[in-house]
Amino acid sequence: MARVLIAGAGVGGLAAAHRLRRLLPDSDEIVVFDHHAVHTFWPSLLWVMTGTRDAKQVVRPLGTLRDQGIHIIEAPITSLDPSTKTVVAGNARWEGDALIIALGAELDPAGVPGLENVPGNFYQVDGAQAIWRDLQTITQGRIVVLISRVPFKCPAAPYEAAMLIDGYLRKRRRRDQVDVSLWAAEPSPMGVAGPVVSQSVLDALASRQISYHPRQLAVRVNTEASQLTFADETELPYDLLAYVPPHRAPKVVVDAGLARADGWIKVNRHTLETSTTNVFAIGDVTEIPLSLGKPLPKAGVFAYRQGEVAAEIIAQRLTGRGSASVFNGVGECFIEMGGGIAGLARGNFYGEPMPAIHAYKAGRHWHAGKVAFERHWWAQWW
Ligand SMILES: Cc1cc2nc3c(=O)[nH]c(=O)nc-3n(C[C@H](O)[C@H](O)[C@H](O)COP(=O)(O)OP(=O)(O)OC[C@H]3O[C@@H](n4cnc5c(N)ncnc54)[C@H](O)[C@@H]3O)c2cc1C
Repeated sequence: MARVLIAGAGVGGLAAAHRLRRLLPDSDEIVVFDHHAVHTFWPSLLWVMTGTRDAKQVVRPLGTLRDQGIHIIEAPITSLDPSTKTVVAGNARWEGDALIIALGAELDPAGVPGLENVPGNFYQVDGAQAIWRDLQTITQGRIVVLISRVPFKCPAAPYEAAMLIDGYLRKRRRRDQVDVSLWAAEPSPMGVAGPVVSQSVLDALASRQISYHPRQLAVRVNTEASQLTFADETELPYDLLAYVPPHRAPKVVVDAGLARADGWIKVNRHTLETSTTNVFAIGDVTEIPLSLGKPLPKAGVFAYRQGEVAAEIIAQRLTGRGSASVFNGVGECFIEMGGGIAGLARGNFYGEPMPAIHAYKAGRHWHAGKVAFERHWWAQWW
């Protein structure tokens, strides 16, 4: 009997677990660890933030996956040892024949002093709910959408957030009295996807009168005065602050020596294997350099495909059967624009010398595509 350990029941971890379950004999054990009892479909948080989903609709219990032959351990992982493929969680120690690390990125609002006291972190369910509460009552003033640091997961999400907020206010005929602006620690939107995609997002913001302020590094927030300060000493008062917090590798990963405190796990870009045989890392916890000098974006679409690749390689090694695919850097992303409209960017991020990404014309069909994808996400496993 073989045992595969999967640290993290997010997008990548669950993709790997289900692929392994199909490929391994029933007698082999697949053990997935997570400190949350629920799986969250993160893209839907943008809809929680603007009131088209409630918090209950964006989560499902992990425990029900036990019926599908996946052993779920609901406990925090307190230590990892890649050399022995060991996971310590909830005072129990588990050793496996292979280990997949899919722990995602840890959010660290306190990385910008004061930000941890601002409720509008739309990368968490409660933060998205807090924004929705305020959005319903704001009648005038300034809404600031902030990208506090790079890298952050889903390069499109804050741009979508700004446009969804704009769409909500227009529908309620309040947009003329409420300013919406986007302040970003990055030089341009979705830069890895290339200048055409970036420009199409800039055009979409401009056509909605959302002012864009790139290369702005927030250094502190004064919550009493509701004011942000940036590295160039710009002071920005806000009435509602919706923000992407700083991201970092989970502490347990750094403690295990798998990544530096200011870095991410390095892997083979095609197999996702770390420097230790049969130890894989997938998704947001990794850093994969691209030829243009920036890393592969952190996104669920990649975490999912990487999870499947790692699972296929492990299954092939354990059973001596089948063939494994390689991760080829291909991915796509819907871009919500408000008013029931979305765009799509799709292409090969491993393209040489530059990623080859195409931006498809925005329309109602891509928004419908995103809604359909959400439905598919739940239907496949729940
Ligand atoms: C608002 C928003 C919108 C997004 N939209 C899109 C989109 O449209 N398209 C797209 O491709 N991506 C999108 N993403 C990004 C996508 O959700 C992530 O890239 C994806 O979830 C990464 O998968 P992962 O498996 O690497 O990590 P995660 O899905 O974050 O999973 C990590 C898991 O590890 C668990 N964990 C962490 N530490 C521990 C520990 N010590 N012990 C136990 N468990 C632990 C966590 O609880 C979590 O369940 C969006 C993200 C957000 C926040």
